[in-house]
Amino acid sequence: MNDTQYYPETLSVRAGTESTEYGENSEALFLNSSFRFKSAAQAAARFGGTEPGNIYSRFTNPTVTMFQNKLAALEGAEQCVATSSGMSAILACVMGLCSAGDHVVASRSIFGTSVQLFGNILKRWGLNVTFVSLTDPAEWQAAITDKTRLFFVETPSNPMTEVCDIRVLADVAHAAGAYLVVDNCFCTPAIQRPLALGADIVIHSATKYIDGQGRCLGGAVLGSKALMEPVYGFLRTAGVTMSAFNAWVFLKGLETLHVRMEAHAKNALALASWLETQPWVARVHYPGLASHPQHALAMRQQTSGGGIVTFEVKPRAGQTPQEAAWALIDATQLISITANLGDAKSTITHPASTTHSRVTAEARATAGITDGLVRIAVGLEHIEDLKADLALLTA
Ligand SMILES: *Cc1c(COP(=O)(O)O)cnc(C)c1O
Repeated sequence: MNDTQYYPETLSVRAGTESTEYGENSEALFLNSSFRFKSAAQAAARFGGTEPGNIYSRFTNPTVTMFQNKLAALEGAEQCVATSSGMSAILACVMGLCSAGDHVVASRSIFGTSVQLFGNILKRWGLNVTFVSLTDPAEWQAAITDKTRLFFVETPSNPMTEVCDIRVLADVAHAAGAYLVVDNCFCTPAIQRPLALGADIVIHSATKYIDGQGRCLGGAVLGSKALMEPVYGFLRTAGVTMSAFNAWVFLKGLETLHVRMEAHAKNALALASWLETQPWVARVHYPGLASHPQHALAMRQQTSGGGIVTFEVKPRAGQTPQEAAWALIDATQLISITANLGDAKSTITHPASTTHSRVTAEARATAGITDGLVRIAVGLEHIEDLKADLALLTA
């Protein structure tokens, strides 16, 4: 299938998959660890790389390969390396492309566990990391050393939904001989395609919107063949491989990606607009709102504002901001109190005491993550039911 011939929606449904001799119309699930050879000579040729084909599912598996090919078509990448989780995708990317003594510049506004991985674990193995402001290219420029290999961002960021100009950061990275890595988990290729905007590598936590229904853990690294070769080399040796079963679930998830992301974004925009009118809300953060500081940039870079809305609850007399946020969360009856996102079920969380509780209070303040902040990953329920659930406390 020629990926450039079809619209993205068609690629979601059709790209990357192949049927076996049985002609099944839905992808086959290959639950086998190893593959048999016709002869010792064929085994040698497979291992030697002179004959293409599967050897062992830590290296390749046909179901995982179909997932990789579909996601690569959607992101416009030459190659995709599927991993066991989003975190192992980031780990494989760094282990494949960096060595001890190398330097990474990362946005301060990234997933909490990514901060731990860079600032704590990889640091112990000799990687130097500088955290800078997502939205200020001058800080990225100033952080560059002669050892800088990677720039690492999430846009929009979690939980404040700040947006950076991918093209501008890519230019700054490239001028320094570094690569720009974008964790595209919040948008998915249905909303934003970072490689087309100049980024070199895309990271995914497939656990989120690619699955779409909160079932499996998985991740992916995407980019050029040359960049993915060492990433794949790390994966097949270290074994942070995606399971075939999870790849099969994600293949089904990707088929409905575009319709789901459109529905998530439609609900999120409606909810964000409604929240802005509520007297108990101090401030709403959503890239699709005209009041968002990077609204124009977001609308150039993305096809919608996405599915994540963050807002600050106004405390009542005698209430601390955290008490106000917790009271609102605890009053909901429909929305799930959980930190996961990208599910058909709407989820609600208090970042300061959950996902960002290990970040220092000072760093939280700098990032704008106040104690009154609440994050909602808007699901696919009817918008009126979501509004009613959030209005229970003040009703
Ligand atoms: C969840 C998440 C990750 C980590 O993914 P896992 O699949 O949980 O390992 C990385 N980046 C972002 C933006 C995430 O939301």
